[in-house]
Amino acid sequence: MNTFKKIALLTAALIATLPLSAKPKIRIIATGGTIAGISTTSASSAYTAGQVGIQTLLDAVPQILDLADVTGEQLVNIGSQDMNDEVWLKLAKRVNQILNEEDYDGVVITHGTDTMEETAYFLNLTVKSDKPVILAGSMRPSNAIGADGPANLYNAVAAAISPACKGLGVLCCMNNQLLDAKTVIKTHTIDCDTFEGGPSGIIGYIFNGQAHILQTPNNKHTEDSVFDVSHLDKLPKVGIVYGYANASPLPMKAFVDAHFDGIVLAGVGDGNFYKDVFDVAVKAQKQGIQIVRSSRCPTGPTCLNSEVDDSKHHFVASLDLNPQKARVLLMLALTKTHDWEEIQKFFMEY
Ligand code: GLU
Repeated sequence: MNTFKKIALLTAALIATLPLSAKPKIRIIATGGTIAGISTTSASSAYTAGQVGIQTLLDAVPQILDLADVTGEQLVNIGSQDMNDEVWLKLAKRVNQILNEEDYDGVVITHGTDTMEETAYFLNLTVKSDKPVILAGSMRPSNAIGADGPANLYNAVAAAISPACKGLGVLCCMNNQLLDAKTVIKTHTIDCDTFEGGPSGIIGYIFNGQAHILQTPNNKHTEDSVFDVSHLDKLPKVGIVYGYANASPLPMKAFVDAHFDGIVLAGVGDGNFYKDVFDVAVKAQKQGIQIVRSSRCPTGPTCLNSEVDDSKHHFVASLDLNPQKARVLLMLALTKTHDWEEIQKFFMEY
């Protein structure tokens, strides 16, 4: 056999040993939400979330099979107003298993938009992998005119296969944009253009099935996070109290009486309390219930030791976190320590 023939045979043998598809492997975890919702009338605002299963979602976007080897599983099928600690723990454990034990290149999670930002932030602190984890949902149900779910799902898979999305922490993919788990907020009750990235803006965008990254998050997340939920089956109890003029102290008292581990104040302005609520908060902190001050203002930080003497009362300032995300971090922080200064450090880092 001449040399040319030998090389040709060797090449053919080598090609035969290669896997048939060199496409990235992506796992979709479906949790419900409007993306799986069904409209019962011609008006897309009248519908029930979490109705169709993962296979129906995948069948609606066959184009994603051009991007990746995509398979799916149904974790729960709920409207995300019903998201809870139990599902979060299950989800974090499952994502870690998929990325670290099952050889997938990325995970896409379909989710209702109402609490998507909280789930994204919880996973940002508890997933132990630099592989992309992308949350996607929709504002219109799956059978509405102009449903946004299929494009959001396609874009999320495009992000999940992109090397540029590695190491960025958990991202949300909505309306062609990629948003950081820490800063993303739902800003509009019904509009498709509802998610914003806070003062620092979006992380990037998807165009023609390609992820374009504009900036990287500068807080600690995923592999650099100290929080580990692998052995937990419940989380500390943390509630949120809303601030307003002439506020009643009763909600704060109710959390204290129910022995919550922590309370986040969605305060007025720079995380300020109404005086009656403040008195209950001081007592609660003395009893070992950690108070975190945050703000009902949509933008701006809640600053440490500005109008409120946090050092004196051992309150923690939420800094850039809104109340719902401050709650997530406080729950995880309380799995590590009850020292308010250590908890404040977590709020500076994460
Ligand atoms: N409330 C439902 C949910 O969060 C529907 C809202 C949505 O998905 O956009 O799942």
